[in-house]
Amino acid sequence: MQVLKGKEVADQAYVELEERCKSFIAQYGYSPSLAVVLVGEDPASQSYVASKQKACDRLGIEHKDYLLSDKTSETELLGLVKLLNEDNSVHGILVQLPLPSHINETAIIGAINPAKDVDGFHPQNVGNLLIGNPAFVSCTPLGILALLDHYRIETSGKHVVIVGRSNIVGKPMAALLMQKGRDATVTVCHSKTKDLPTITAQADILIAAIGRANFIKTAMVKQGCVIIDVGINRVEDASRARGYRLVGDVDYESVAPKTKAITPVPGGVGVMTIAMLMNNTILAAEQLATQGER
Ligand code: NAP
Repeated sequence: MQVLKGKEVADQAYVELEERCKSFIAQYGYSPSLAVVLVGEDPASQSYVASKQKACDRLGIEHKDYLLSDKTSETELLGLVKLLNEDNSVHGILVQLPLPSHINETAIIGAINPAKDVDGFHPQNVGNLLIGNPAFVSCTPLGILALLDHYRIETSGKHVVIVGRSNIVGKPMAALLMQKGRDATVTVCHSKTKDLPTITAQADILIAAIGRANFIKTAMVKQGCVIIDVGINRVEDASRARGYRLVGDVDYESVAPKTKAITPVPGGVGVMTIAMLMNNTILAAEQLATQGER
């Protein structure tokens, strides 16, 4: 069994991203820049935002942070997005999800300039992804592809089962893997899927994006499969100073010995996601610069 070490692959990606960032600065005389918008004080979101800011600092990407109260109205947030769209010194816009329930996420995502949509959530980017055109692609699926490529895990002709159909993970993952060139046969499962274990047990590659701690058990997987665990779940752990630890959607200890390869949590998909956000931010800056729109 091989552990797919996202941290190592991400570290390698950072070396290349740092070079690209330096070349960009040398050519244009300014840094790629990411606007990071966080509404409210959800601890998990705060921690994701902090990791993204740290990654920017590591690469020399400027980040402009907008930490807003959870009382911020949808109109106010739309106003900020409009300002960021028009601000030539901002190349990427990240609005951390989930947003408080009084704000319509679809309206906010739809208001972001697709050329600055480094999360790849805007309908224009999602549509382009689906038809195989160049697009900003959601960072988690992009990170998973980078991980599979690094470890030379073939997807052509393989049966990939994705558990989870969210717009940020499951759907874009399916769209990427079914494209010509990736050539996987993709099955997408969700909470209404009947007899889930029978389907997951057919997977050559199983991608779990459910949000339930240790949900995938040994009986649900095929001997020798590859498992990508996207889940990040907090479970109480009194032995940790912070009172919890992070676990994936896969019951790692029991399932791992049955697999050919598996990602750990933490240190698997999560770190790759952030590296891909940095990639998309540099790409946005490069594309805007070549269009003369600093
Ligand atoms: P989400 O929007 O809540 O979607 C979860 C999906 O799982 C839904 O499609 C849901 O089905 C399905 N599901 C829930 N219970 C199920 C069950 N019993 N059987 C089968 N399917 C079930 O979550 P998400 O945003 O995609 O995130 C999923 C997990 O990945 C979370 O733990 C999140 O924290 C993590 N995540 C990690 C990264 C990373 O970088 N590693 C990035 C994003 C998310 P329905 O559609 O029918 O409700």
